[in-house]
Amino acid sequence: MLPPVASRFVAGESAASVLNHARRANEHGVGVICNRLGEHYRERPPADADTVAYERLIADIGASDLRACVSVKPSQLGLLVDEDTFRENLARVVSAGADHDVFVWVDMEDHTTVDATLDTFEEYVRDPPGAQHRDASERRSREQRGASHHEPGGMGLCLQSNLRRTALDLERLVDCPGKVRLVKGAYDPPESVAYTERSQVDEAYREDLAFMFREFDGGVAVGSHDPEMLALAADLHAKHGTPYEIQMLMGVRENAQYDLAGACDVWQYAPYGTSWPAYFRRRLLERKENGLFALRAIAGR
Ligand code: FAD
Repeated sequence: MLPPVASRFVAGESAASVLNHARRANEHGVGVICNRLGEHYRERPPADADTVAYERLIADIGASDLRACVSVKPSQLGLLVDEDTFRENLARVVSAGADHDVFVWVDMEDHTTVDATLDTFEEYVRDPPGAQHRDASERRSREQRGASHHEPGGMGLCLQSNLRRTALDLERLVDCPGKVRLVKGAYDPPESVAYTERSQVDEAYREDLAFMFREFDGGVAVGSHDPEMLALAADLHAKHGTPYEIQMLMGVRENAQYDLAGACDVWQYAPYGTSWPAYFRRRLLERKENGLFALRAIAGR
């Protein structure tokens, strides 16, 4: 069972819990990106099981009136088993998303996975799996309903500004129909492929963001809690008129999320599932304040 101290960062263990969380966040004007916790599978059965779980979650979101979507990890869908497993499972998730008008984000993991993730994303976003089986008029009406730039039934990919290659990857995606969530990068890649100084990563993030607001007509997703980057995004939006959304993690700067939701599109990434201990540990270790919060909660203050 999820202890109360972990419930700041994790919505719960079941799909029902993340949907309940989404309802509460929606009341504050914040959409929810549901992520079933699970990664680095080296055998096919858990990757297939999580794929089925995502298909069910997507059907549940589609049948509800929630402002919610999903985000999947490539290694959760089997990338470390082999590329075919990942491609098959992602095709099923994306196809379910299109059937139920639910947007599917693909997280980015460590730098060794970028080529396979980006290639598959680009292929599926240009030629959606299962699309040929879908009724054309149904697709047309979905496109018409996709008035919000966080278009249902679409697909998005996360890119990391700490990787030296990302500026080129962004250029490659300029004419792609999907969306990109820009983050600084949560992994620790070697200097040969990445900026390792914090100031260099921040500079790369600023440049990547400026490029996206200039070149991406379909919108920009700013995956950051950094007030400086959020202010830059607001300036770039004012300058170029490009639609954008802010994405932050559950439990991080939530009051800011609610405040910002009055002025722009805000989405909260909310993890759920029984593999919460590793995720919770990561959140506690990344910032002193989070560790202090946990200590205070345990001490009952
Ligand atoms: P940082 O550079 O860590 O901090 C800058 C400033 O932001 C701080 O000085 C502070 O003012 C504020 N801030 C940051 N964190 C906190 C906090 N916990 N509490 C209060 N203030 C804070 N990474 C990946 O590699 N792959 C992914 O697929 C991925 N998906 C993500 C999805 C979302 C929605 C988000 C928000 C992040 C994702 N990340 C992902 C993580 C990302 O790469 C960063 O590691 C993480 O967001 C920290 O960078 P930052 O820009 O938020 O701020």
